[in-house]
Amino acid sequence: MAVADHVDFPTFMEGVKKRNPGQTEFVQAVQEVAQDIFEFIKDKEEYHEAQILRRIAEPDRVVSFRVCWEDDNHNIRVQRGWRVQNNNAIGPYKGGIRFHPSVTESVLKFLAFEQTFKNSLTGLPMGGGKGGANFNPRGKSDSEVMRFCQSFMTELYRHIGPDTDVPAGDIGVGGREIGYMFGQYKRITNRWEGVLTGKGQEYGGSQMRPEATGYGAVYFMQNMLKHAGHDVEGKTAVISGSGNVATHAAEKITQLGGKVLTLSDSGGFIHDPDGIDQAKIDFVKHLKTVKRGRISEYCDEYKGASFHEGKRPWDVECDLALPCATQNELNEDEAKALVKNGVQAVSEGANMPTTLDGVKVFHDAKIMYGPGKAANAGGVAVSGLEMSQNSERISWNHERLGEMLTELMEGIHGKCVEYGEKDGHVDYVKGANIAGFKKVADAMLAFGVV
Ligand code: NDP
Repeated sequence: MAVADHVDFPTFMEGVKKRNPGQTEFVQAVQEVAQDIFEFIKDKEEYHEAQILRRIAEPDRVVSFRVCWEDDNHNIRVQRGWRVQNNNAIGPYKGGIRFHPSVTESVLKFLAFEQTFKNSLTGLPMGGGKGGANFNPRGKSDSEVMRFCQSFMTELYRHIGPDTDVPAGDIGVGGREIGYMFGQYKRITNRWEGVLTGKGQEYGGSQMRPEATGYGAVYFMQNMLKHAGHDVEGKTAVISGSGNVATHAAEKITQLGGKVLTLSDSGGFIHDPDGIDQAKIDFVKHLKTVKRGRISEYCDEYKGASFHEGKRPWDVECDLALPCATQNELNEDEAKALVKNGVQAVSEGANMPTTLDGVKVFHDAKIMYGPGKAANAGGVAVSGLEMSQNSERISWNHERLGEMLTELMEGIHGKCVEYGEKDGHVDYVKGANIAGFKKVADAMLAFGVV
């Protein structure tokens, strides 16, 4: 094999930008990983020779398709669906499906890229993928959501399979949507197989999957604090979002003796200085998943709380911050506000919620900062366990899965420390990037040029 020229980091990024015009989220995600990897591989000729980084930053395949459905008023509606299969070096493609009007090919490529490293970090045999559609489930009837999910799966089914690609939920895709999609897959293929995770418990779902991402993000926070000689107990926490990840993160913080002050949605955030306890979290879960209402309605029920329309919660003074809504929801100024107010640790339940400038603020201030690819890996890890359960036709109980999740998060934290600790400080971004990259890269080396 010819020895490839060693391009430097700026030249590499120029190439990524040129090949992916207008795909800002994808470029941002590649940049965040590549800057650490360049440093790691500078004296490792085999990775350069095999062009590993260049290959990982090019998805194996991007499938895009039309999703046609009929609304309740008999209007024909047309949406665009995608599945991005980024890398299957260490296992079948695995990653969620997102239904949100902001979904684009760039967003899904960034998520599939990140997922590759996250899945590798779990230590389980899963490659990276992501999918979705620019469909907004908000305000749609159950029948409309069902028809959309069925139409989406009518195309998607030919690209997935239990040993090929196993999607799960993400923003806008919860138990209801997974049920409709699984039913349609089964109807088309006449096969019951573990082709989706996040399924209901009646039909092969894992008992811990709904809680796994939010609980896992708090376990990651707990591990960071413990490593520095601290604890969650008695600390205040600011959380964004009010969906699956945010509500379960709030639940675990509360169980560990912390006090949650905020939750949010795309309309604004609520601030409850008395703390959002379990009864209030249950109210929010019901509000969001059954009534499908807005977070502002929290203040109709709990008079001590205030609603801040169109705002994000990062100005509220706290010890711990958990962004659990969406990408780029915490910018440089907001990171500075958190640091100024004395935040000790940040654990990302969402994917890439902090902008690159915001990450730099945390880095420079030496804040304990757990990036999404490590901190929110608990969800996909339990999805990996759900895949094993389905293949073996067995099921583990809630308690056993809870222990496994705790161990998995401890393991991920340990890998970040192994590759990211220097002079008594842990750079969790660097640790996660290098540990995640190494396993995938070594598998790719074993395959030769493919
Ligand atoms: P949900 O759909 O359950 O909740 C999403 C929450 O984020 C809602 O409160 C929503 O508000 C809010 N939100 C969405 N878009 C925006 C926006 N543009 N601005 C402000 N708020 C917004 O999704 P999840 O809880 O499952 O996912 C949240 C994050 O966690 C995502 O980044 C996802 O990729 C990540 N994640 C999820 C995993 C999982 O297991 N579910 C696994 C790993 C990561 P509204 O109701 O107004 O839309």
